[in-house]
Amino acid sequence: MTGKYQELVVHLQEITNLNRAGALLGWDQRTQMPPGGAAARGRQLATLARLSHEMFTDEKTLHLLDDAAKEIEGLSYDSDQASLLRVVRQDYEDLFKLPAAFVAEMAEVTTLAHPVWAQARAENNFAVFQPTLERIVELVKQSAEYLGYTDHPYDALLGQFERGMKAAEVKAIFDAHKPALVDLIARIRAVSSRVSDAVLHQPFDIDRQRQFAVEVVRGFGYDFNRGRLDETVHPFATGFSRDDVRITTRSLPEFLNPALFGTMHEAGHAMYEQGVAAELDGTPLGGGTSLAVHESQSRMWENIVGRSKPFWAWALPQLKAIFPQLGGVDLDTFYKAINIVKPSYIRVEADEATYNLHIMLRFELEMELAAGKVKVADLPQEWNDRFEASFGIRPPTDAVGVLQDIHWSGGMIGYFPTYALGNLLSAQYYNQAIREVPSIPDDIASGRFVTLLGWLNDRIHRHGRKFTADELTRRITGEGIQSRDYIAYLETKFTEVYGL
Ligand code: ZN
Repeated sequence: MTGKYQELVVHLQEITNLNRAGALLGWDQRTQMPPGGAAARGRQLATLARLSHEMFTDEKTLHLLDDAAKEIEGLSYDSDQASLLRVVRQDYEDLFKLPAAFVAEMAEVTTLAHPVWAQARAENNFAVFQPTLERIVELVKQSAEYLGYTDHPYDALLGQFERGMKAAEVKAIFDAHKPALVDLIARIRAVSSRVSDAVLHQPFDIDRQRQFAVEVVRGFGYDFNRGRLDETVHPFATGFSRDDVRITTRSLPEFLNPALFGTMHEAGHAMYEQGVAAELDGTPLGGGTSLAVHESQSRMWENIVGRSKPFWAWALPQLKAIFPQLGGVDLDTFYKAINIVKPSYIRVEADEATYNLHIMLRFELEMELAAGKVKVADLPQEWNDRFEASFGIRPPTDAVGVLQDIHWSGGMIGYFPTYALGNLLSAQYYNQAIREVPSIPDDIASGRFVTLLGWLNDRIHRHGRKFTADELTRRITGEGIQSRDYIAYLETKFTEVYGL
């Protein structure tokens, strides 16, 4: 490609460079930076964000998009060139829907909201956060009007995180599997004493936990020549190019799960980014396509692989070599322990069976907040009533109830559904993988992960942002996102684990 298309690519690469430099400062902030660096770091990040925004919103971008479109006329929808123009034009249009003054107000309100939320949660006092949240909900409703929607204001909010997806689709998908989840959890609760996870709660040397987690994700195919692992408080994955995608973890001295499964989870995100085609790297197409597809990758490696019996048939002897105190634990006991189902008040601690119910609760409340059907003042009561109806337990405090998550303080209403959709997609994609490559489960049992990773690279990773989640899912599986595969996966697993 020559001429205007090439000029557009160079322009977009420069913007991407600014964004990636900002991401690197963000990584440093959360893993290395001394606390005293916060104020200067905030200024540096603001400068980079402003420069990037100015360059992208410059008329030059629009002119280059128009001129390049003429140059590449006739290229197929799937081509890198047509995809770049399609995705970037949408990015550009979305950006202009929100007036600059509104964006600035939202940024200010949500920045100030964070410590207020943190205080309210620490003091277990929703009233402290209520006026701030009321203001945020007002602004979020206003943003839905700016962004535009046809059916429900929530469409506009969701669309910021999952392009092209509508609230009604999410509602239909959630309604289709909520009764099955509630029923499964009730059957498990009746026999909950059959499984214990005591074996996971004992002293485990932190350096050795880390050593094992590194071996596992290296085995999965996370490339340490193009990545690294660091400690942090709230683990995340972040990348600056396909050749530098980093993960973080948190280790607890007396509980094996956070470091082990958390590292698998973040490596799943990182392998997605490492697998993007080299030709897309450094452009706006270089990265995961949506939050739901990203989460499908992390949850697949963490749960479908990492909490499976074939995987532990291979991995348990190695874990025992590192932690001799597990010597007497058999595969069956260990497998059950890591798959224990315990209704928890806290979403981030939820097991696979209960996780999506946590999301449905937030989704229902967010829909009603956006439509003005639920008032902020009524949230604690609404939360607790609905939580009890789904889980059979009532949160004893708002700190472990409506105040537990940071997202609303950041104005992120419309984000939560992507977590649950990621769970559904993880099973849907995995089933397609084993239909096409039936040896995958046996390969996993012998520590060969390259067949699964190779399939994911080919079907998902290499495409970067070229296709929306829906386009990608239909290309891969022949249908849109559905809950059938995930429910069947849970039923099979927990029937075995709990002898249902
Ligand atoms: Zn994740």
